[in-house]
Amino acid sequence: MCKLLTYQEKIVCKRRMRFPLTMYLIIFVSASVVFYQYHLSKAWMISHNNSQQFRDLGASSVEKGANYTYYASKNIRQAEPFSINNPHIPPLYIITPTYRRPEQLAELTRLAHTLMLTPNVHWLVIEDAQRKTDLVTDLLERTGLSYDHLLAPMPEIYKKKKKGPKPRGVSNRNKGLNWIRQNAKNGVLYFADDDNTYDLQLFKEIRYTKQVSMFPVGLITKLGISSPIVRNGKFDGFYDGWIAGRKFPVDMAGFAVSVKFLLDRPKAGMPFKPGFEEDGFLKSLEPLEPYELELLAENCTKIWVWHTQAKRNEPSQPLDFAKYNNTNLVVLKHILV
Ligand code: UDP
Ligand code: MN
Repeated sequence: MCKLLTYQEKIVCKRRMRFPLTMYLIIFVSASVVFYQYHLSKAWMISHNNSQQFRDLGASSVEKGANYTYYASKNIRQAEPFSINNPHIPPLYIITPTYRRPEQLAELTRLAHTLMLTPNVHWLVIEDAQRKTDLVTDLLERTGLSYDHLLAPMPEIYKKKKKGPKPRGVSNRNKGLNWIRQNAKNGVLYFADDDNTYDLQLFKEIRYTKQVSMFPVGLITKLGISSPIVRNGKFDGFYDGWIAGRKFPVDMAGFAVSVKFLLDRPKAGMPFKPGFEEDGFLKSLEPLEPYELELLAENCTKIWVWHTQAKRNEPSQPLDFAKYNNTNLVVLKHILV
């Protein structure tokens, strides 16, 4: 383009050509810098807001008169707002019997934090007690979960029993079933004792139970497992260390029931019969035959729930209040059993 011009004209011409190129470069570089700075400031604003909320949560717990500060739950849930209450998946009603003992808060803390990672859950925490334990109420509040905190003390006749096993958690579970009858229309219910260990995959699968689903439970009896037997992809009996003439020799953690299926059976409930609670409840769901069960956990080849049992702890020894007056130990002692 500059070929036919004099030497000086050529220089001017070349400069003119170079000018827009340099301009483009400058514009590009400064735009990149502005863009980068904008993102940096946005990131700072997000983290600043989060830490502000973090502090607010801590402060509000102090204002409420709680004896300790906490931060975690609501922030964790804010990080994943779309996975929590998803109206496109059926609700899960988790019925958890619990009672006051040294391990109670530890067990409920573990289960709470599992459920916090599960969408569309309504947690029914039912205490075998005359009045609600404040520390349990506090824990439930902090989880940000949808929940009901109910009471269902074990009837005195069973509580007084000196010999033999007691029907543990039965009045609690029946209370949960009644709550579901009065409040739920669809979805799935599951009995989750406070001391078991649950894989999140379990909740993903049981949510789609049509009638009654079953799956293996690990760490049960000398066999190490309780599970439906699956042969050639079909139900072929039960593997359990204690059959005892039961039609459904399974563990409480080994099945889930559709809410509609329960609502169609107004008489269904759990008997106060130690060892036969699961069998009695499943039989009360009649008509229901074992071959109709929906087999989950990849045809019962996976273990998504474990029947863990915490070591029993003695109640904590008394605190010397004279010696430790005005220390944190006074506050901590009120948390302990
Ligand atoms: N449970 C209860 N009251 C009791 C004993 C137990 O509410 O007096 C609850 C307990 O918190 C658990 C369920 O009932 O969620 C089953 O009890 P446990 O784990 O002791 O029974 P196991 O698993 O040994 O059969
Ligand atoms: Mn247990």
